[in-house]
Amino acid sequence: MNRADIAIVGAGPAGISAALNAKIRNKSVILFGNGDLSRKVELSKLISNYPGLPEISGKELNEKFKAHLDKAGVGITDEKITGIYKRGGRFILLADLKEFEADCVILATGAESLKPVEGEREFLGRGVSFCATCDGNLFKGKTIAVSCDCPEEEAEAVYLSEIAQRVYYFPSFKSSLERENIIKPHSGIKAVCGQNRVEEIKLKNGDKIKVDGVFFLKQSAAADILLSKLETENGRIIVDREMKTNIDGCFAAGDCTGAPYQIAKAVGEGNVALHSALAYLSKIGKNQ
Ligand SMILES: Cc1cc2nc3c(=O)[nH]c(=O)nc-3n(C[C@H](O)[C@H](O)[C@H](O)COP(=O)(O)OP(=O)(O)OC[C@H]3O[C@@H](n4cnc5c(N)ncnc54)[C@H](O)[C@@H]3O)c2cc1C
Repeated sequence: MNRADIAIVGAGPAGISAALNAKIRNKSVILFGNGDLSRKVELSKLISNYPGLPEISGKELNEKFKAHLDKAGVGITDEKITGIYKRGGRFILLADLKEFEADCVILATGAESLKPVEGEREFLGRGVSFCATCDGNLFKGKTIAVSCDCPEEEAEAVYLSEIAQRVYYFPSFKSSLERENIIKPHSGIKAVCGQNRVEEIKLKNGDKIKVDGVFFLKQSAAADILLSKLETENGRIIVDREMKTNIDGCFAAGDCTGAPYQIAKAVGEGNVALHSALAYLSKIGKNQ
């Protein structure tokens, strides 16, 4: 399905809550994420503050979420959304070379795991990219740096190493990825530098490396990069009590809206966002 009433970006607790309620309310919904649901939930060894499920592990809770989605008949569209824009009153969501369409959108992307480094935003589109599939070909035979924030994104780094001549690789986890053209420096990226385009990266230990481009592979990218003109503060999406953002028809829920970073808060906001989305659909005459 490429069109729906509601598109939900992110299949963590917030997105799942919104999707289950959308289904109950007979709305067509596309839930973007991956089959493993939330890595953050998965990493929680013991959750003791979720009502009704004392002392449950994150792994068990994810299994329960998955079973609930299956029972409700909500599938997960295994795509990473790389851009969203509005066309003719509808939202267009881009995933690699695919396009999806929805009347409204709920952003439930979680919190950006790594803070942007100096120059990351400034050089976006001028040597900095967040999407290997979209921009990898621009760096055929070149030297690039690749920062990767979670094992699930590492396949993208492998793909880039097949295209680029040399890759300086900066995984923020223990990675066993080895290839002839991959170099793993012992210090992290401090800044991306250049005049009009990326020319080099500066490492935390003071070293400098000449590169043609830098890829930041993140599980949750900054929301205002996904959707331009979306208002954020300190990297978190600004919402009101109805989880409305500054963009009509776009709602947000969960960690992406800020603290407290808790499952119960994410689930609650997902529910509120969905109800606001229903009111929006009604307002634009999509209630039938
Ligand atoms: C180690 C650890 C322990 C924790 N313990 C607890 C605890 O005991 N109790 C508690 O309440 N909370 C705990 N938390 C916090 C809790 O996990 C988070 O608050 C919660 O998962 C937030 O849910 P969310 O749906 O907002 O975001 P996430 O769970 O982060 O889910 C967001 C999902 O969106 C996906 N996504 C992001 N961008 C895109 C995109 N562009 N396209 C498609 N999909 C996308 C991501 O891959 C991710 O799966 C813990 C967190 C950690 C890391």
